[in-house]
Amino acid sequence: MQQEIPYKIYLEETELPKSWLNLRAFMQKKPAPLLDSETMQPITLEKLSTVFCDELAAQELNDTDKYIPIPQEVVDFYKMYRPAPLVRAYCLEKALGTPAKIYYKFEGNNTSGSHKLNSAIAQAYYAKEQGLKGVTTETGAGQWGTALSMACSYFGLDCKVFMVKCSYEQKPFRREVMRTYGANVTPSPSTTTAVGRRILEEFPGTNGSLGCAISEAVETASGLEGYRYALGSVLNQVLLHQSVIGLETKAALDKYGVKADMVIGCAGGGSNLGGLIAPFMAEQLEGKAKYQFIAVEPASCPTLTRGKYAYDYCDTGKVCPLSKMYTLGSGFIPAASHAGGLRYHGMTSTLSELYDQGLMEARSVKQTDVFAAAEQFARVEGILPAPESAHAIRVAIDEAMKCKESGEAKTIVFGLTGTGYFDMMSYEKFHDGKMTDYIPTDAEIEKGLSGLPKI
Ligand SMILES: *Cc1c(COP(=O)(O)O)cnc(C)c1O
Repeated sequence: MQQEIPYKIYLEETELPKSWLNLRAFMQKKPAPLLDSETMQPITLEKLSTVFCDELAAQELNDTDKYIPIPQEVVDFYKMYRPAPLVRAYCLEKALGTPAKIYYKFEGNNTSGSHKLNSAIAQAYYAKEQGLKGVTTETGAGQWGTALSMACSYFGLDCKVFMVKCSYEQKPFRREVMRTYGANVTPSPSTTTAVGRRILEEFPGTNGSLGCAISEAVETASGLEGYRYALGSVLNQVLLHQSVIGLETKAALDKYGVKADMVIGCAGGGSNLGGLIAPFMAEQLEGKAKYQFIAVEPASCPTLTRGKYAYDYCDTGKVCPLSKMYTLGSGFIPAASHAGGLRYHGMTSTLSELYDQGLMEARSVKQTDVFAAAEQFARVEGILPAPESAHAIRVAIDEAMKCKESGEAKTIVFGLTGTGYFDMMSYEKFHDGKMTDYIPTDAEIEKGLSGLPKI
């Protein structure tokens, strides 16, 4: 007999994962190695350690250890806001009249308002362990910058954040949250770095981009004694830390004997999705189960659905190592009307490889449809979702409606990565009917791809 599923499945504190799951170690065909931008050869640990702190550089290159223990200090911090609940969306199911069973993993229960804190605390911990003074980073919408600021203040590290200029101006409250945690916040592009000055010269009046802010943060870290760079998505190390999301989700489902049919997540750089699917995909790669995995991206930044699988720079300034990934080209900047986050030009190498192998699907969705889903969800489930998260909601609802037509009672699990309190200007545009859908033309996509390095 099946137990009745509660609205929220909470794990006990003692059930928190003790190790992260390294998905690449389960893959037979591994993602291609990072390339050194100077030699175009696979990057060495030594070289990578000049950018990231030592332990994180080692994690970045590790594709053999299936599990990596979570340091006790990180587990102790996780206890402040984890385990995160897995919620059965009974109210949404009822509103949709679907036989599907919908679950979402909610990562918005911390001040950063997103899953980013899961990796921020790990990255700050290893920096502290190494005796560093501080870290630099970029932030787009602001969640990552907030998360890293929180993590750095916890361990007594300095934190310098380059915030994409349009967000800096649109989201002054985000900036103040970061400053509350002691971070130093600079709008990007800035005149404080050579790459910032170069980009300002080339594109005067630019609103900035993630790729540009990354270059500024990397340059700043390399010029300061005792500093390293930290990145909130895309990297293998970030996917590794985010596996805590999937491990908890799977443990909660297993507790009630529930088997997911599909796992859905929004994909910007791919870290929450990579973390959410990790234990499910690992199980599938071991031939023990089968799932449908769906990555959801904005139609205005369609990395997987319209990009190319090729080596590319991770940043506009071309100072970072190159990664083989689905990409729109490091010079691609989504239209200014794009409100919903997920604006990175590339996709983490692990998800790129899984997608290329046909093990994961991808959908692109228009932002007005995304906000419609966000509102529909908020009205019945209560949580005000981040626009990024609402990409996953959109496809979860679409899939639940397909179940309604076919009469199938599929079990749908999606990642609700965060809350949208700082995105009310975008919600306002949507409510006032002023939100538009910009879909790049083939010529614009071609232009971005024409800038790919020839390797
Ligand atoms: C950063 C962020 C994302 C996208 O990043 P991924 O690395 O693709 O997970 C999604 N949702 C929220 C709330 C975020 O802050």
